[in-house]
Amino acid sequence: RVDTVETGRVVLADGRELPADAVVVGIGARPATGWLAGSGIALDPSGAVTADERLRTSLPDVYAVGDCASYPSARYGERLLVHHWDNALQGPRTVAATITGADTGPYDPVPYFWSEQFGRFVQYAGHHADADELLWRGDPAEDTWSVLWLRAGVPVALLAVGRPRDLAQGRKLIETATAVDPARAADPSVPLKAAVR
Ligand SMILES: Cc1cc2nc3c(=O)[nH]c(=O)nc-3n(C[C@H](O)[C@H](O)[C@H](O)COP(=O)(O)OP(=O)(O)OC[C@H]3O[C@@H](n4cnc5c(N)ncnc54)[C@H](O)[C@@H]3O)c2cc1C
Repeated sequence: RVDTVETGRVVLADGRELPADAVVVGIGARPATGWLAGSGIALDPSGAVTADERLRTSLPDVYAVGDCASYPSARYGERLLVHHWDNALQGPRTVAATITGADTGPYDPVPYFWSEQFGRFVQYAGHHADADELLWRGDPAEDTWSVLWLRAGVPVALLAVGRPRDLAQGRKLIETATAVDPARAADPSVPLKAAVR
């Protein structure tokens, strides 16, 4: 068990020290939906409730939102299971609209999360599984930098560390599928909104 991580070394809980330049921490989560067995609510092999584009389950009048539910994303062309706070906040809006008859359309937001890691403000928007180009904006050895993923020149995801303006502008480009000029988008002194092709 790790006690502390310092530059160049890791100190374990039992006091041993290991030399390390980097530590990779893998954390996973699986929906605890075993209690739904036999209910008529369809689950995928990972246990996620397979909701439709309005977050309806396979059982009439039963909806699923948040960490337990995957939904078909037309934006990304695949079913997404998003384990982020923002997804748990946005999904219920679609469900409430559907229940009350004020249909607001399919649920298909640009996924988003923020976190604070080692004193740095980390934000991510989008889904980069199908990206074909990765652009660095700034040097990851510095305190602030971003990574932008493109597909056919169009931003599909962005990770920003201490660059909330990149996140805000990049998120809009992702939402509107607006192509950018890669050379300008890779220049951290150029605002992302000014890198539009
Ligand atoms: C350590 C950690 C760090 C995270 N950090 C971030 C972050 O920095 N940014 C971010 O965006 N997201 C983060 N997340 C993810 C975020 O917390 C989740 O996406 C969000 O809480 C999901 O909300 P939810 O309502 O879908 O599920 P939950 O918040 O898990 O709520 C589900 C509730 O259902 C209850 N429950 C389960 N089974 C039953 C049952 N059978 N009967 C009754 N009640 C039941 C549970 O006890 C729980 O209270 C983090 C998660 C973890 C674990």
